[in-house]
Amino acid sequence: MIQRTKTPRCKWCKNSFTRTRPGDVCCSVECGIQYGMKAAAKVRKAAELEQKKQTRAQREEMKTLPVLRVEAQREFNRFIRLRDAGKPCICCGKLPQSDPLTGGQWDCGHYRSVGSAPHLRFDERNAAGQLKQCNRDGAGRAVDYRIGLIARIGLAAVEALEADNTPLHYTKDDLRALKAHYKAKTRELLAGRG
Ligand SMILES: [Zn+2]
Ligand SMILES: [Zn+2]
Repeated sequence: MIQRTKTPRCKWCKNSFTRTRPGDVCCSVECGIQYGMKAAAKVRKAAELEQKKQTRAQREEMKTLPVLRVEAQREFNRFIRLRDAGKPCICCGKLPQSDPLTGGQWDCGHYRSVGSAPHLRFDERNAAGQLKQCNRDGAGRAVDYRIGLIARIGLAAVEALEADNTPLHYTKDDLRALKAHYKAKTRELLAGRG
């Protein structure tokens, strides 16, 4: 008779062995214990990962609107800084002396401020790379900012921004989507730079 079953190999020490009981996967009790412990550790690890995933999901679920707004704004601002890296400051025309990718002297400055025009806080036309010291001057730089912005996006777009007073209300999911959107756009820009 032809032997059809392959000689089993111990799951732990990998040596071939003769099965004395059906279902045996190890050659000896010692190997069986080792193998069993490893298998149990694997199960435990998977359970821990699942637990972590759930905790993360719960924490995301519990985030308040202001927290989500800050998180989305951070990603938006980072994208604008990166988009305008290499360009001069929107209002004074000076180049930042630090690496614009990591922030440093480089800010994302809003033309109409986030405080007075919150509906434009995520409007790409309304934001540009700006030196931190200029951004801090805020309204003091508004005229220069306007001139710089007209040069970049044109008078019509600037006037459209100035006339835009349609309130916008973001839901939690809107803000999560915006955060993901700008994270992806930043990644895309970084990939393009190589
Ligand atoms: Zn073995
Ligand atoms: Zn400036």
